[in-house]
Amino acid sequence: MSEPVTVSYDGDIAIVSVRNPPVNTINASVRSGLRGAIVEIEARPGTTAVVLICEGTTFFSGADITEFAGPPKEEEYRDLFRQLEQLPIPLVAGMHGTVMGGGLEIALACHYRVALPGTRFSLPEVTLGVIPGAGGTQRMPRLIGVEKTLEFILAARPIDTAAAVALGFIDAEVNGDIRAATVEFTRGLVLTGRGARRTADRIVDPATATPAIIDRLTESAKRQYPNREAPFMAIRAVAAAARLPLEEGLRFETEIANESKATVESKALIHLFFAERNTRQIPGLTTIEARRIERCAIVGSGTMGGGIAISFANAGIPVKVLDTNQDALQRGLKVIGNTYDSMVKRGRISAEEKQQRMALIAGTLNYGDLGDADVIIEAAYEDLAIKRQIFGKLDAAAKPGAVLATNTSTLDINAIGAATGRPGDVIGLHFFSPANVMPLLEVVRSDETSAHVIRTAMDLAKKLRKTPVLARVCYGFIGNRMMEGYAREAQRILLEGATPRQVDGVLESWGMAMGILAVFDMAGIDVGVNVHRANADRYPPDPTYYQADIALHAAGRLGQKTGKGYYRYVAGDRTRHDDSEAIDLIRAAAARLGIAQRQHSDAEILERCLYPLINEGFRILEEGVAIRSADVDVVWCAGYGFPRYRGGPMYYAETVGLKKVHDGMLKYREQFGPMHWQPAELLARLSREGRTLKDWEANKGGKAKP
Ligand code: NAD
Repeated sequence: MSEPVTVSYDGDIAIVSVRNPPVNTINASVRSGLRGAIVEIEARPGTTAVVLICEGTTFFSGADITEFAGPPKEEEYRDLFRQLEQLPIPLVAGMHGTVMGGGLEIALACHYRVALPGTRFSLPEVTLGVIPGAGGTQRMPRLIGVEKTLEFILAARPIDTAAAVALGFIDAEVNGDIRAATVEFTRGLVLTGRGARRTADRIVDPATATPAIIDRLTESAKRQYPNREAPFMAIRAVAAAARLPLEEGLRFETEIANESKATVESKALIHLFFAERNTRQIPGLTTIEARRIERCAIVGSGTMGGGIAISFANAGIPVKVLDTNQDALQRGLKVIGNTYDSMVKRGRISAEEKQQRMALIAGTLNYGDLGDADVIIEAAYEDLAIKRQIFGKLDAAAKPGAVLATNTSTLDINAIGAATGRPGDVIGLHFFSPANVMPLLEVVRSDETSAHVIRTAMDLAKKLRKTPVLARVCYGFIGNRMMEGYAREAQRILLEGATPRQVDGVLESWGMAMGILAVFDMAGIDVGVNVHRANADRYPPDPTYYQADIALHAAGRLGQKTGKGYYRYVAGDRTRHDDSEAIDLIRAAAARLGIAQRQHSDAEILERCLYPLINEGFRILEEGVAIRSADVDVVWCAGYGFPRYRGGPMYYAETVGLKKVHDGMLKYREQFGPMHWQPAELLARLSREGRTLKDWEANKGGKAKP
């Protein structure tokens, strides 16, 4: 392997060039190479300036996150960056690509900074529950002040070169080849006699760090980051830059950085970071090749079909959309056009991009037109007979080797596959609504789905910028199956006397993006009621089951679309208003069912909503429906608004302690009987043995089927 860091010379200018594919992380060998480069440059008399650039698609994209688990590296970074900063001749960082975290911090230790147009800069550490720990909290305020530094760190969003120049931490935008452009800029510095210019020598403008400013930022962080620690640690560290000399400030930063790495929040966020990157690793399928996907077709141009078509067109893949009649098709295509119009209006894409993407989408009424598609996704009505009929037609129309997918939420994909003569090519691709926005894709393999088709689906997800999670066929797959008990208990608690606002309030303060009852209002209460009616034989014989939904449904309260459901809504506004009519309807249902009214503590509401959800997750793992617990966590965080900083339901269970979750199940079993409160066998076993899920997964060997 070639050395990641090389030094070359352009006249009297030294060029330190880094090559650590794919994204130039600052790993141990890069750090050692940089130390070597400094020694070499210092030993070469006559060198007038140094350029630091990276080869490939980007400047340093950041620190190496895989090192997070090992011993702390802050001190090593601090020493290396100090050595760079102390070079006696001008040191210029020339940047392109995506410059994040440690990648930006190394640039701050350089004396001058230039970048190509469109380079993206960010300090996103708080999204991983930590703070910039390689000088960012101390050097950035010396360049742009405390207030702007904190706004940048707390926003945790990338800004481009023009914005960074305006903010003041980039000296100039340069054009063309980054190496040539940086050398030219540097030669200009040398010619005009500009010397080393150390960030360390600057002081923070005290006007940017007044108590009023810190208070304002703290208050806004409380709103943006409820239940979180890292953002407030970042505020403490950055504010310190205004009163401490650099070296002391850097030591203080290290202290806080180490504190941040010890929080549950950072461990949970880093767990998810890796979990999301790992979902495509399927044991036993690593060497299987994916089929090529260049053309797509979709059957059904409704809510889901339209959103899926947009996802494909956004990825540059041509897509044909089929529906049963011209009216339905035109309606579907019009909605797609409207969605693109609103993207243009919000500045997400240009009018020209809209035209290009729309040009990739064509409508048809004829199955004969689907013969060139590499993947066909069915998104028609949720009815097994209709779907089987469609798959029969697809079997006749599709070319050999085409992937035949269904977007079903509840139906048996084995039965759908059996309607074709090629069940190995049939798979579930369960998109979430709105399909063009939601990142999650449950990939559901039937008993017959071939390894190639699974691999193809997992790779296709990447092209569509989705996070795929592989599941086996079962009712509800991973996400909706776990939702069942959660939603059931939320409704049952209402029947016992709590209000929708109380239940949703507890869930939202704890961190769910939206309370479950507000979710029902958004999705449509009729949708849930219809699913339950169609599947009544699957549910336990509980007369209280989903009775809040049923009471509202019977009164025509279908949620936001009718202006009333669990809450009341004013037309054109999604703000929830408490509605005594909804509460009365639920009370009346409770009276009919003989359910006594009482008060609920927040803790009870939370446990009763979350424990059944987690318990079902354990069943999903013991049955091998999901490959690993981290996948279950990804499903809930990417698809159901579970708070990322709690790591997902299975990770959260570990942080609570499996014994506590298990004992909680037993406590409610005592109170409500075993119908809904029987602990999963795996949960009971691990709790009894005092073991963690992580330990079980590490030791179960080949038990989980790939
Ligand atoms: P929808 O009613 O909005 O759209 C269904 C479309 O399919 C309509 O345009 C209809 O004309 C067309 N269609 C019906 N029968 C057809 C046939 N035989 N051939 C061709 N087209 C036909 O429904 P939707 O909400 O888009 O749901 C579609 C599928 O996606 C269902 O299986 C549903 O369970 C599943 N799903 C829905 C959601 C959601 O949130 N809406 C989420 C995940 C999965």
